[in-house]
This record gives sequence, structure tokens and C-alpha cells, in this order.
Amino acid sequence: MASFAPSPADVADIGVTGMAVMGSNLARNLARNGFKVAIHNRSVERTEKVIADHGSDGEFYPSESIDDFVASLQKPRVAIIMVKAGGPTDAVIDELAARMEPGDIIVDAGNALFTDTRRREEALRAKGLHFVGTGVSGGEEGALNGPSIMPGGTKESYDRLGPMFETIAANVDGAPCCTHVGADGAGHFVKMVHNGIEYADMQVISEAYDLMSKALGMSASEIGDVFAEWNTGDLESFLIEITADVLHQVDADTGKAFVDVILDQAAQKGTGAWTVQTALELGVPVTGIAEATFARSVSGSVPQREAARGVLPAKAEAPEIADRAAFIDDLQKALYAAKLVSYSQGFDEIAAGADHYGWDINLGDMARIWRGGCIIRARFLDRITEAYERNGDLALLLADEYFTREITECIPAWRRVVAYAATAGLPVPVFASTLSYYDSVRAERLPAALVQAQRDFFGAHTYRRVDADGTYHIEWTGDRSQTRQDG
Ligand code: NAP
Repeated sequence: MASFAPSPADVADIGVTGMAVMGSNLARNLARNGFKVAIHNRSVERTEKVIADHGSDGEFYPSESIDDFVASLQKPRVAIIMVKAGGPTDAVIDELAARMEPGDIIVDAGNALFTDTRRREEALRAKGLHFVGTGVSGGEEGALNGPSIMPGGTKESYDRLGPMFETIAANVDGAPCCTHVGADGAGHFVKMVHNGIEYADMQVISEAYDLMSKALGMSASEIGDVFAEWNTGDLESFLIEITADVLHQVDADTGKAFVDVILDQAAQKGTGAWTVQTALELGVPVTGIAEATFARSVSGSVPQREAARGVLPAKAEAPEIADRAAFIDDLQKALYAAKLVSYSQGFDEIAAGADHYGWDINLGDMARIWRGGCIIRARFLDRITEAYERNGDLALLLADEYFTREITECIPAWRRVVAYAATAGLPVPVFASTLSYYDSVRAERLPAALVQAQRDFFGAHTYRRVDADGTYHIEWTGDRSQTRQDG
């Protein structure tokens, strides 16, 4: 028997089922903003705890059963699911859908793979229901105090949901960090790429830290001071800010720098891998995100690292660093440049996804709704919005006049950092791969011509010429004559 009275019917503006940390915080955020919030959880204890601990946050309508939960919602009903991703989400969707009517809206605010969202949306659309997969970024703190919200689904569903989501989202300069992203899985797609960019951001910060530590022998706290200083300039962002904080943290047990007592194996929940897998399928070179994701995999490759440690020589001679301040300045510029490339690549993936799946995504708006609430919130996102405002058809973010100017200023420093790391035997996968991408994308001519010739040699895959239309093949094992293949 639940320790709360049954809720009345047709009363709540919105409902949330799944009262673990994210769902309860989202429900509290809605209630604090004046919405009447129905709440529910599979096991009633969590619902009771929300009412007991936070019942005074606003108007909650708790239900023990899913029947009562659905009945307590005003029509057209809006129910947010915030449960474990995967099978549990499907199970809860089925439970809700069986009790809802055409026109009602089911929202999945968990971290779903966008292809699952597309599948679920199609199935619910056939029943006349709206299904909205929405990205919610900012972790538990964001869910409570203002996340960045990325809803997909129909425009019609956004008419109903948008005003509530925009009220509870983070707000920067009077603009909510929420907008309708696009149809069906667009919201979860954009959230996925957001997380991929987050991987690259975190890795490139870690590479700068590693070089300060190993090349300059700086302590964690000294490096923390550098990040705190960087956070006052172009690099100002949540991740740089918390990096400074983490590096200043002292371990209570040992008195050592906290970062020095953490095992150097980074975990991952999968959104970085999804971003890379999807990019591979779409043919988008998100090299910074990919290297950041693989860097976590390398860190976790324990048997391989043990087999290599003390066995594989560095054969490296670290060049002398005569001017330490100049080296740190180079690192700052390299970090900024690598970050610009990672974002440019991420936006390429969103554009490619939009093109492939037929979503009308405003890229400038995506940068705008990431300015607050989310993990990659940063000062320079404004510049991305401005770039897409200047040219909505911008093929490459780096080619925008502002970003071209910014990255140009960083190039010599970026090259020095990557060259130093390679010579010293220090790994910088994102610094290096983004620089390599930069040099590839701006190249007049790439060695892909030779790859294409090789493909034609062993697989008759044909090639195109620089001086004529059509596709051609060479009789490599015969007289080596060229024949046109396309008519
Ligand atoms: P979680 O640990 O992922 O999931 C726990 C919740 O799922 C509980 O309410 C649990 O109910 C419910 N649940 C599990 N299996 C169920 C089933 N078969 N049927 C019904 N309910 C079931 O919770 P979370 O950390 O709050 O995250 C919720 C969602 O938000 C996830 O999709 C997560 O990926 C996403 N997300 C999380 C964060 C974060 O920072 N944590 C950030 C963004 C997005 P019981 O209490 O009955 O077990």
C-alpha cells in the first residue's frame, strides 16, 4: 500500500515515469516551474521517496500503478519515460501505449540510439500516438536546474511540449536551451553527436594535461592553475572549468593530488561509439571523436598495455623546452584548434544525418541550445551559431571566415605540439588526428588517387579522370589499355 493517496484523474500537465536520479530531478524541475506533475516508478518506493523528500517542490500527483498514472494526466496526455535505456524503455512504452489514445504523446528522455527511436516512432505513429525521443544533457544537476533539451518527433507534439520544455531548460541570454530538432529520431541523433563531441573535448583536454605533466614536469595543481587561466579566454567552458577543479582536488586518504590516485582506465557507456559507428555508415570523417573514443579503449586494454609496458621501447628523445611559458601557450592554441576541428566534424555528422534521414535541422540552433545546461557548454558556441547565421549552407564550419581566422592563428603552435609529442614519444591521438584531418581537408590533392588506382588494379573498381567525364578501367593483366565503363 503506497504511503500517498490516489491522485485524481485528468489533473496533471505532464507525467514522468522512472523516478531514479534523472527522472526524479526532471519531475522536480517541472514542479518547481509550476507544472502539475504526475509521477510513477515501477517500484513504488522511489515514488514515495520523491514525495517524502521533495514533495514541497511543487504539485506532484503520485501513482502506484501505471493505470492510475495515465489516468491522472490531462488530455492530450504527455508522459515522459526516464528509465534504463533499451529493453526497459520498450517495456514501458508498451505499457503506456496500451493505455493511451490517439493524439497523446510519449516522450523518451533517456539515452536511446536514434535508430531505436525511429523504430519506436514509426510503431506508435501507426497507433495515432506521438513518440518524441528527446536528448537531455547536463546529468543529474542539469535535469534538476536546467538541462539542454533536444526533442525530436512531430512539430505538433512540440507545440504541446515545447512551452514546458523551454520553461525548464537552461536559459542563456534570454534564450532557452531547447528547440524542436527535427522529426522522429533527430533529437536523439543530435544528442548522440553532442556526446561524441564531449568525448573529443575531454580527450584533448587530457592530452594538454599529459604534456604539461610529462614534458614540463608540472604538478596537478600547477596544471589546474593553467586550466583556470584558460577558462578566462576563448576556451571558457564547463569542461575546462571542472578540469581545473579536479586538478586542484587533493585525495583525503593520501594527501596526493586526486588525479594521481585514479586508475588510468576511462570507461564509456557507448554514445561515443554510436557516434563513430554512425559516422562510418554515413561516410563522415569524425576523426577527433573516433580517436577520443579509441583512446578510452586503449586505456582499458589492460592485457595489451601490460604486454607492452617495459618491453616496447620509446626510442624517443624529448626536445629541450627552452621557454616553458611559450610551450604552454602552444598547448592552449593546439587545444583550441583540435577542439574547433572536433566540433566542425560533429556538425558535419549532424548535417549528413539530416540529409540522409530527411530531417530539417538548423545547425546554428544546435550550437545555441548547447550554450547552457549541457556538458559541452562553452563560450565559443555563440560563434558557431553566428557562422551558420552568416551562411546556412556552410559546407564546412572551419571554412567560415571567423573560424578560418581563429584556426590559422593556432596552426604553427598546433604543429609544434604534435611534432614535440611525436619526437618525445608521448601519445596525442586527438591533437594529431585533428591536425592530419585539417591538412587533408585543405589539401589540393590527396593520395586517394593512388588508392583508387590500386582498387581498380585488384578489383576492377574503376576510376574517374581529372581531365574527362566518365568511369574507366585499365586491363591490368592484359594490354593495359583503358576502357570507358559507363556507356
Ligand atoms: P537508470 O539507472 O538508467 O534506470 C533506473 C530506472 O529505470 C529506475 O526508475 C528503474 O525502476 C527503471 N527501470 C529499470 N528497468 C525497468 C523496467 N523493466 N520497467 C520499468 N522501469 C524500469 O536511471 P537514470 O540514471 O536516472 O537514467 C535514466 C535515463 O536517462 C537512462 O536512459 C540514461 O541513459 C539517461 N540519462 C542519464 C544521465 C545521467 O547522468 N544519469 C544523463 C542523461 C541521460 P526501479 O526503481 O523499479 O528499478
